[in-house]
Amino acid sequence: MGNTSEIKTRIEKLRQQVDDLRYRYHVLNDPKVTDEVYEDLTKELIALEHQYPQFMSADSPTQRVGGKVLDKFQKVKHPLPMLSLNNAFSEEELKAWEKRILKLLTNNQQDKLEYFCEVKLDGLSISLEYENGIFVRGSTRGDGIFGEDVTQNLKTIQTIPLSIVDKRRIEIRGECVMLKSVWEKLNKQNQKEGKPLFANPRNAAAGSIRQLDPKISASRKLDFFAWDIATNLPELKTHQAKHAYVKRLGFKVDEYQKKCVDLSEVFNFIQETEKVREKLAFGMDGIVINVNDLNLYQFLGVVGKAPRYAIAFKYPAEQATTILKEIKVNVGRTGALTPLAVFEPTFVAGSKISKATLHNMDQIQKLDVRIGDTVVIQKAGDVIPEVVEALVKLRNGKEKKFVMPSKCPVCGGLVEKRQIGEKSKESSTAYFCANPKCTAKNRRGMQHFVNAFEIMSVGPQILDRFKEDGLISDAADLFALKQEDISGLERFGEKSAENIIRSIQEHSKVTLSRFIYALGILHVGEQTSEDLAQHFGSLKKIMEAKLENINEIENIGPVIAKSIYDWFKQKENIRFVKKLLDNGVKVETAKLSSGKLSGKTFVITGTLDSLSREQAKALIKGLGGRVSESVSKLTSFVVVGSDPGSKADKAEKLGVGILDEKEFLNLVK
Ligand code: ZN
Repeated sequence: MGNTSEIKTRIEKLRQQVDDLRYRYHVLNDPKVTDEVYEDLTKELIALEHQYPQFMSADSPTQRVGGKVLDKFQKVKHPLPMLSLNNAFSEEELKAWEKRILKLLTNNQQDKLEYFCEVKLDGLSISLEYENGIFVRGSTRGDGIFGEDVTQNLKTIQTIPLSIVDKRRIEIRGECVMLKSVWEKLNKQNQKEGKPLFANPRNAAAGSIRQLDPKISASRKLDFFAWDIATNLPELKTHQAKHAYVKRLGFKVDEYQKKCVDLSEVFNFIQETEKVREKLAFGMDGIVINVNDLNLYQFLGVVGKAPRYAIAFKYPAEQATTILKEIKVNVGRTGALTPLAVFEPTFVAGSKISKATLHNMDQIQKLDVRIGDTVVIQKAGDVIPEVVEALVKLRNGKEKKFVMPSKCPVCGGLVEKRQIGEKSKESSTAYFCANPKCTAKNRRGMQHFVNAFEIMSVGPQILDRFKEDGLISDAADLFALKQEDISGLERFGEKSAENIIRSIQEHSKVTLSRFIYALGILHVGEQTSEDLAQHFGSLKKIMEAKLENINEIENIGPVIAKSIYDWFKQKENIRFVKKLLDNGVKVETAKLSSGKLSGKTFVITGTLDSLSREQAKALIKGLGGRVSESVSKLTSFVVVGSDPGSKADKAEKLGVGILDEKEFLNLVK
């Protein structure tokens, strides 16, 4: 061949040609493209790039399977959190969702409300980042904030373009999926080779993306469908427009999608799609309904971990029958005893399951489930399987009633019966292991702690090992470990000891809400931890909070408040927190929301004329204020509408400031 500039041109043209064939073959499913042509051109390209490495480029189609085998995946922070959607299981729940949205919108906005529906593929959510038109990073959803960098495995997926024409920084989101037929083949192969089987295509896709060797990922023939652009591109005004644009950029988009002007059209789409569901090449478990107008999308925002602007409709659960062999009892980190049904492995909703939760003793009594019964098990989407019915007519008289053990099955400690749940709501009886030193509690508690701190290198087995060898007695001891403590242990080399210590040290600084969550206080999940952090701002303030201060917080009911208050009053817990801090754990103080109402607490009573209560709450929160349900000395203002309740009287008695609607509007204007 001629001079180097001709070679460069040839390489560039080959790349375009190969990429064009890839696009037509994999994205457009164009049968006219033959494998032979594609392979011949690719071979020529590889040879030229090899000979002239100066013309190598990251977006060359030859770079799809070039990556090295990794030791582990890097954790990456998503530019914007990858939220998870709330689920709806019925038309009623969708109507309730719409009602909640309408309450927040003005009449003008309500007129613009339409929906964009798309199939919810049952795969792995993935984020793809492009800079200057080049695919630079791809990551798994992870916990929504942090994911794993799986760029080189994603490059092996033929439906992901390595370059796009838009040169802006763009983040594409979508689903990585495996064809049902590929999954079946893979399982047959694994069965032959005595390897573990994948319960469903989603697990197989997830397992393939999380392979450290990109060659294995490449062999799994994964596919990618784009469903969102996380970057704000001002020219795109609707979710539908985003779909059209990602398609133009060269991504595959699922063809089952529809703009609907109202919920009745949405219901039709859901029913039509259900008819073809089984025939689809990919697994899907529902329909995602998005508010189409992106301005409304922004306006509606996020509550907790889920956005208000979209919801996932899940098709009804699938059920199966099986014989209940045994009821086991699990001991959780709070010491709660959970009965678990054990049965012969059974296929439900595409997954093979052999255990299902029975929730609690009340549930067992309500269903009258006995050991030996033929039971109905149910699985809906990614919800954990449960026992929903005992078929009593099939009994032969040999069935046995289950009795909750009086001693903890793990430590032998005494089992205590407690009433849980808010008084007003349905409360239930729960059983707890009362032994504070219970090994099961302790073990689960430590695992929970390590997960909350995201110390990925310390898994359950390592924790058990450290404990058996006397290196640690609680999670706080982890932070005092030294490399030489570990490297002396059998089966731990210098290298892994170093990794473990580094990973612990790197994760010793956490946000206040993470820290609270890690403590494993009964009833305190991620959202409550966040609420506590936002409200109090510092660990010290939370530890010193009076019960009534905790009760003030809008989303925290009396039972949860008491649980938090009691936890921080116990000496061994205070000692544990102190030990964590002494061993080097750093807790960041929470940024209290700033705004002109920050630090002020409002209570609203009666009906406001010009805005709904939800809108009023949103206004207060938007300006950094807090809204509480009950009036106390700590309340800053009570906003009084027409027909106010007793809260207005109480405010007057306590001398709390009272605002009428006009005064309130002036304040928030
Ligand atoms: Zn126990």
